[in-house]
Amino acid sequence: MRISPSPLIPSFLVGLMAACAAPIPAPQPWPLRPDPVGQIGGERLADLLHLSLDLELDHEAREVRGVASSWFRALRDDTSELLLHGVGLEILEVHDAAGEALVFEVQEPQIRITLARPLAKGEEEVLHVRYRAQPERGLYFRDETRFSENFAPSLFTQGQKHNHRHWVPLWDEPNDRATLEVRARVGLSMELISNGQLVEVERHSAESRTFHWRMEQRVPTYLLALIAGRFDRYRAPHPSVELEFIVAEEAGEQRARETFGETASMMNFFEKKLGTKFPYPRYAQGAMADFVTGGMENATLTLVGESMLGTHEENQDLEGRPRRIIAHELAHQWFGDQVTCWGWSHLWLNEAFASWMELAWVGEVEGEDARRLRLEQYRERFLGRADRVALPMALDWHTQGCSPNRAHHVYTKGPWVIEMMSRFVGPKDFDAALALYLERHKDSLVTADDFVRAVFDATGRNLMPMVQQWVWSGGLPELVVQHEIAGQEVNLQLEQSQVPSHTVPLFDCPLSVDLVTSIGRVRHELRFSERSHAWRLPFEGELLNVLIDPDGALLSSLRQTKSEAFWMHQAADFEEPLAVWRALPALRQIAASSPAARALLLRILREHPEPLLRQRAARQTTWISEASRAALVRATCEDPAPSVRSQAARGLSSHAPGRPFNGRDPLAQRLVAAQETETSARTREAITALLLIGDAP
Ligand SMILES: [Zn+2]
Repeated sequence: MRISPSPLIPSFLVGLMAACAAPIPAPQPWPLRPDPVGQIGGERLADLLHLSLDLELDHEAREVRGVASSWFRALRDDTSELLLHGVGLEILEVHDAAGEALVFEVQEPQIRITLARPLAKGEEEVLHVRYRAQPERGLYFRDETRFSENFAPSLFTQGQKHNHRHWVPLWDEPNDRATLEVRARVGLSMELISNGQLVEVERHSAESRTFHWRMEQRVPTYLLALIAGRFDRYRAPHPSVELEFIVAEEAGEQRARETFGETASMMNFFEKKLGTKFPYPRYAQGAMADFVTGGMENATLTLVGESMLGTHEENQDLEGRPRRIIAHELAHQWFGDQVTCWGWSHLWLNEAFASWMELAWVGEVEGEDARRLRLEQYRERFLGRADRVALPMALDWHTQGCSPNRAHHVYTKGPWVIEMMSRFVGPKDFDAALALYLERHKDSLVTADDFVRAVFDATGRNLMPMVQQWVWSGGLPELVVQHEIAGQEVNLQLEQSQVPSHTVPLFDCPLSVDLVTSIGRVRHELRFSERSHAWRLPFEGELLNVLIDPDGALLSSLRQTKSEAFWMHQAADFEEPLAVWRALPALRQIAASSPAARALLLRILREHPEPLLRQRAARQTTWISEASRAALVRATCEDPAPSVRSQAARGLSSHAPGRPFNGRDPLAQRLVAAQETETSARTREAITALLLIGDAP
């Protein structure tokens, strides 16, 4: 799943927030190593083999009714009852394979069914549950699309994590796998699509049709999906996988292809990287009206929101977010669908990999610098959620009163942890280990031990200490670094300032430090494990900068005291995008009193080849001077990247109250001219807002 992102915290606040965050109330103790039973959603009484739904979906009544059938095989002798999940359902009757009515008791979220006679181990039985529901969650009815004001009925489901139980009785934990079958009747104007392959369509009358879909591979039931509506469906060529894009009738082919068009090459890239084929013969992606989350990786049927459907320019406007979500959900078909976390407490095994793979695709198409900077954004988002920082990634969510759906840190810290593991093992060997991991655990459930063992078997490297430090523990090294120059030596002092607790350790990590001098650059490979460290690092020539973790290889927060000259040197090094990224918040502060810093900030805004850095510079340029006002107008009107233009236009609004844009202002005239040719909707709206401010009395 890809949750909707929380707003990005301005980077200059990040260090501050990490430092000044309100103390997190001490949670109840839990074992650092996740308890494998309590956190897998409870024990199973039987093995779910197959789930078959025979439903009628009544859009007008917002109702679903029909029969949900679950085939089980007993795991123990004398199995006298079976369990399903259901919330807010009206259960009408339950009967078994022989047609015998069974006694059931609803204790939400469980439905306990007493069998007619106990099953012996290995014996199979089926539960047919006839029910009806007007669900408030899990199944969503919509009346219109983003692209038309006319009545346009549609519906979709969203399972992760415990939502399906609100519209259908089923085993609703990720700790079991089943083949899926859906027969669903909808109004004649609607098409219904579900997991796997279409078996047949049966027309009943002038009013309705039943669509029959079947998924032959066993998947956890949270990956069940069905959608219905008036769709246009487009195919894309691929040698072995049936690729399809599904959009509302009015959305148009261009939007569908602009948004989903990279899927085939993305798939080829992932197959090559992971050394394993896409797991399924079909892969459809649907864009849903008013979807309830960023994206959802239902097996063979990924769903995203209609807001992602855009022209090339509109997608650029969203800063490439559609591309990253599509990559994220596609990666889940391996990490999550084919190989699934053993319970929601192990969610990081789904999400950390999907987020890391998403960035791998960014690196492939936008370059390594863009990938590194996106990773920096994840660092800032992770630090921006102070309430999540101390939480381990593997966590008993249920007893901590914290929903995995809000587990931001598995999406932000997660890819960092995988990145650090990949660097430790070596990227090529790490990818080979992933191939073994996926192959070995294909169509089954995994915990961290399975992943660690696969990496060990493939490469001989032991990731268990990293899992203990980064997954079963929470927090991160909150580094405070200072230096003094003594002759031709730097006295470097480092402190880990995080408050240790039963979940937050003192970290033991390697750390690179570069001394940048007039002669060149010298790297020192250090290691910290104590509360405080001091090192004496020799250098030659004149010292120009001290760069901590220059490759961005470590997930940490960093407060480093250094001179304005050092920050200026760092921000001016256009060859090192990561260094410029980190220097920009400091440069903004220096710019308040330094014309040279203001000039450098505006030069980054104007000239840096990396759009993410021009955008960050635009964000830091909001308030400074007359020159910055002109520079932001220029960026709004001329920058080739829509994301920079819209950021610059939004930045200008902070100038407007004091210096309104009015008709006599030549800068306003430029904005008016730009507005007419602007292709980015966000920029156009921001310019309109600016000019409105200017017109106000
Ligand atoms: Zn996800």
